[in-house]
Amino acid sequence: MKRDLYEILGVSKTADEKELKSAFRKLAMKYHPDKNPGDAEAEKTFKEINEAYETLKDPQKRAAYDRYGHAAFENGMGGAGGAQGFGAGGFSDIFEDIFGEMMGGGRQRRSSGGRERGADLRYNMEITLEEAFTGKNAQIRVPTSITCDVCTGSGAKPGTSPKTCTTCQGSGRVRATQGFFSVERTCPTCHGRGQIITDPCTKCNGNGRVTEERSLSVNIPAGIEDGTRIRLSGEGEAGVRGGPAGDLYIFLSVKPHAFYQRDGADLYCSVPISMTTAALGGKFDVTTLDGTKSRVTVPEGTQAGKQFRLKGKGMPVLRSAQTGDLYIQIQIETPQKLTKRQRELLKEFEEISSKENNPESTGFFSRMKEFFE
Ligand SMILES: [Zn+2]
Ligand SMILES: [Zn+2]
Repeated sequence: MKRDLYEILGVSKTADEKELKSAFRKLAMKYHPDKNPGDAEAEKTFKEINEAYETLKDPQKRAAYDRYGHAAFENGMGGAGGAQGFGAGGFSDIFEDIFGEMMGGGRQRRSSGGRERGADLRYNMEITLEEAFTGKNAQIRVPTSITCDVCTGSGAKPGTSPKTCTTCQGSGRVRATQGFFSVERTCPTCHGRGQIITDPCTKCNGNGRVTEERSLSVNIPAGIEDGTRIRLSGEGEAGVRGGPAGDLYIFLSVKPHAFYQRDGADLYCSVPISMTTAALGGKFDVTTLDGTKSRVTVPEGTQAGKQFRLKGKGMPVLRSAQTGDLYIQIQIETPQKLTKRQRELLKEFEEISSKENNPESTGFFSRMKEFFE
């Protein structure tokens, strides 16, 4: 005959979540196998407590139990899950620790007293080339865990204080033998914190941290390059129980520009001009990233691929007074959709053209033939 779940936890049928949790905590600590080595009766009670709590903390399972009693879970679901879940948890804990030690990681985040460094955060930011040119002060909103202001991160209700864990005497680690292994593992009672909170803070439920959106201002210096990582030390998630905060990394990408391509501090701009401008010469203005206009003079007979350099009109060099150059690369557009009159004029133009007008194309194929024969 199975015992009543409420009776196991010593609570009334109307107990709320908090009462359940606190009853479970007290009993679990008392009957924990680590505190009662070799005591089969304590182990059995401990399993029952876990099972009862696993069921009653879940509103759906609790409702089913209230209605049908243990019969609600006799088809395999529910109740048994508690005990199974617990067993698996114990194992994964050990193996995680073995792996953690082999990989050289895992434990570094934890130090004695349960102080834990907060996680690093990544924030992806995209800026325009103009913004990279001038630099900017960006306001960003980062959802992050911050230290609970009610308990100042201790996790304990104000006026109470966490108690040293009696299972591990505050070290957060216990030695356990599992088959051939004798490993040091995280204390199962306090989960490595070394302390037990009997009266958890109601705002953060004993976590010592709450999730909030923080507004941060980030200074993006002029000349910053695509792919730059900016580290804001201590602006990551809050540490646990007074541990140091993690860092916030801003991963910066610069959007491709409609007209300018960047190569380090230099900028390149491809400018198509008409065939007649290329032949007769002319002028055009380009708007540079500082918003001013620069005039480019195209001399008579300019060829495709010709590059003009506008000195100092490129990007600023990060943390320096230098600036790169702007290169204007000329493309020549061949006229299309000619009218009858235009065609006549071009034909006439061709008839009166000489070798000097087209030194590259005149005789190109005969020179090539000669070369290879
Ligand atoms: Zn709190
Ligand atoms: Zn402990």
